Amino acid sequence: MSEAEADKGRVDGDGTGAVAGGPGRTARARRPRIAAAVAAAVLFASVAAVLALTTPWNPLPGHVPGGGVKADPALDFPPAEISRSRAFDSAVNPPAYTGLLAGLALILVLGLTPLGARFIGWVTARTRRRPLTIIVAATALTTLLRLAGLPFRIWSESVLRRYGLSTQGWPAWLVDQLKSLGVTWVVSTVALLLLYALIRRFPRYWWAGAAAGGFVLVVLVSFIYPVAVEPVFNRFHSLPQGRLRGDLLAMAKRDGVPVEDVLVADASRRTTSLNAYVSGFGSTRRIVLYDTLLKSPRPQIESIVGHELGHAKRDDVLWGTLVGALGIAGALCLLYPLMTSPRLLRRAGVDPGGAPPDAPGGRGTRGAADPRSIALLLALVTAGTQLAAPVQNLVSRRIEARADAHALNLTRDPSTFVSMQRTLSVRNISDLSPDVMEYLLWMTHPSGPDRIAMARDWARMNHTEVPPPLR
Ligand SMILES: [Zn+2]
Repeated sequence: MSEAEADKGRVDGDGTGAVAGGPGRTARARRPRIAAAVAAAVLFASVAAVLALTTPWNPLPGHVPGGGVKADPALDFPPAEISRSRAFDSAVNPPAYTGLLAGLALILVLGLTPLGARFIGWVTARTRRRPLTIIVAATALTTLLRLAGLPFRIWSESVLRRYGLSTQGWPAWLVDQLKSLGVTWVVSTVALLLLYALIRRFPRYWWAGAAAGGFVLVVLVSFIYPVAVEPVFNRFHSLPQGRLRGDLLAMAKRDGVPVEDVLVADASRRTTSLNAYVSGFGSTRRIVLYDTLLKSPRPQIESIVGHELGHAKRDDVLWGTLVGALGIAGALCLLYPLMTSPRLLRRAGVDPGGAPPDAPGGRGTRGAADPRSIALLLALVTAGTQLAAPVQNLVSRRIEARADAHALNLTRDPSTFVSMQRTLSVRNISDLSPDVMEYLLWMTHPSGPDRIAMARDWARMNHTEVPPPLR
């Protein structure tokens, strides 16, 4: 949120604007940049206010008799499990961190030096039509970034395999990577074609259109995701008729959450880990169980579905989508002063005053409208996404804890909840005591011991038997 503030200074510093000329033209160039920065600040401030007011900072409201208990893995996990979790953690961290750093370094070098513009100029040297230039630039850049990340993903996957979490052969894994790249191609190409059409058509006010369009696009993608993207990676079928299905639908009804179907994903083709999730909203909303979960005892499955019903009841997906879309609208406004900054454009090897018509990839377009600025754009988007991740994770963990509280209120069975959380942590080899960096960068959920501690607090608050240590 402070990015907007920092940038206002930059707008004044770069006040010469994209258009060279007399003082009148300078003021004319400065005006939309100030307007865009103010719009970004207002949107970021709204997101901050909405998050501050609506995030369940205390998911278990009320007084815990005797005070809340602290998470302690040693209570429920034997030393062998704790050391296995530690060993797995130190095996997956190196590829995760080095992959993240290498990816960031590559896109920042491409976007903040002329290398990215040169690369785009080279791959689009033979394309004559502008939309084709943008399509080729987008697919080439995203492919290059994916290829650079490939060794780190192979490294991660081999760790998962070593620990028995992955059930895939390398050919199937590679097909997944290609599918995922295909989805990235489609999304980035559509977004960039729309954005660069706006930049070209409305050089001074494209940020307003981009913010509105970005908002709509994020909501649309989140809505169609369960029916358009998830089937690319998994097959789904309805949970078959029987006692489990009947019990789960009855529980949803009792909870006042209209659920017509519970879907099962063929996750076992890829992993041994246990999971369930809610995606989509409105007519695409679905509760999905991993098929790996179906062998668990029925009360444990009910405990998990109780958590998912908590998400459904609070419309967490829709709410998260709307807040995220607002943040992205703010980021798109902020892009304007950055993408019209002569200093940044020159740094990125893009002529801020207009490239000569015969320059490679230039086609006579100026500044941000030059498709070679796509590398700078991706660098800024990546940096923004990375800066937003800790905030997203912080809010997500609170929302997940609220869904846990919902499951406890619904099933009133903290003992099953605790044993389920323990099973989840052991089967998925979860990090039992994440460090600060892991919380900031990766932890979208509270840790297993955190969730177990909350269930014990719930039991004390509701004067039911406190689940004893499982060791
Ligand atoms: Zn959840």
